[in-house]
Amino acid sequence: MNVPLLDLVAQFRDIRDEVLPAMMAVIERQGFIMGPEVFQLEAEVARLSHARHGIACASGTDALFLPLKALDLHPGDEVITTPFTFFATAGAIHNVGATPVFVDIEEATFNISPAAIEAAITSRTRAIIVVHLFGQMAAMEAILPLARRHGLAVIEDAAQAIGARRQVHGVWRRAGELATVGTFSFFPSKNLGGFGDGGMMVTQSDELAERLRRLRLHGGSRQYLHEEVGVNSRLDTLQAAVLLAKLPHLSAWSQARARHAGRYTQAFTGHPAICPPGVDPLNEHIFHQYTLRVPRRDELQVHLREQGVGHAVYYPLALHLQPCFAHLGYTRGRLPVSERAMDSVISLPIYPELTLEQQDAVVGSLLAFYA
Ligand SMILES: *Cc1c(COP(=O)(O)O)cnc(C)c1O
Repeated sequence: MNVPLLDLVAQFRDIRDEVLPAMMAVIERQGFIMGPEVFQLEAEVARLSHARHGIACASGTDALFLPLKALDLHPGDEVITTPFTFFATAGAIHNVGATPVFVDIEEATFNISPAAIEAAITSRTRAIIVVHLFGQMAAMEAILPLARRHGLAVIEDAAQAIGARRQVHGVWRRAGELATVGTFSFFPSKNLGGFGDGGMMVTQSDELAERLRRLRLHGGSRQYLHEEVGVNSRLDTLQAAVLLAKLPHLSAWSQARARHAGRYTQAFTGHPAICPPGVDPLNEHIFHQYTLRVPRRDELQVHLREQGVGHAVYYPLALHLQPCFAHLGYTRGRLPVSERAMDSVISLPIYPELTLEQQDAVVGSLLAFYA
């Protein structure tokens, strides 16, 4: 049986009658730039994230770049982050002229280690980018006090974790709620994906929200008056219309992903070779990815390809070992938990529309390989 890694065509089939009229309304109006749908989406994502402000922008990458720009970093300033993430997290640090400082992750969750952050703080550290990888939140209750003590900004890269929650001191907190700025991506394959690129920042700070709104529009708070130099990073009104139509489904989609994850984990628990992903009991994981650790990973990939089972390796080369960061001087062995992860992980189909039969086929294919 052919099982794709992700089936956006199946999703579109289910929601086409909601999405197309929303897009048509924008097209009939010919109002493509900063239309009312953009502001409505900002309000809805802010509400979902328990934040005062939502500021839409052109991508999840820009959603990281703009708050870093708002920090007015200088060459030599350091931003601590994880090497086990999508490239954009560290690329944004480099692109504002600061230096990424990579620290190791926790074995069980793949998320940044608070102890490793603490050990890496220097007099040049200005900020921490926490990534809520694969859909579960990092240990914010341990990271935020560190940041407060050292006067550091915290950016939550929640590109993979929109709507995820964590119990922090007994209170459910959403991804993006607690940091200086939380960021989301609407890349088509994300849990809430547009028909193209898109992103969003959320913050509790009125002042920062105003600055971010300005920075995404060439640094001007009104047309043709520029307080500073910003960039062009708007979210298209058409994308906002698509995302508004999809947003009411997000919670059910995330629940379906979690159900599929539960079934996989049940099938793999106790297996001598296959190690299912750890879920921190404080977290409500939204399973952007379902990521196993396995031996003989590359051979398994060949087997799955032959069987028509979709899969991917997120991420095959940790960022501290990327050629573009060679000048930073990291070598293999420096961040062993991240390196073990990059050598052994594999992600399986976990999209909401996945059927029981498809899931059985995926499980059967893995079990057969290790039998
Ligand atoms: C997808 C992603 C981004 C970048 O988002 P784009 O919208 O593709 O620019 C940043 N960080 C993480 C962790 C991501 O998964």
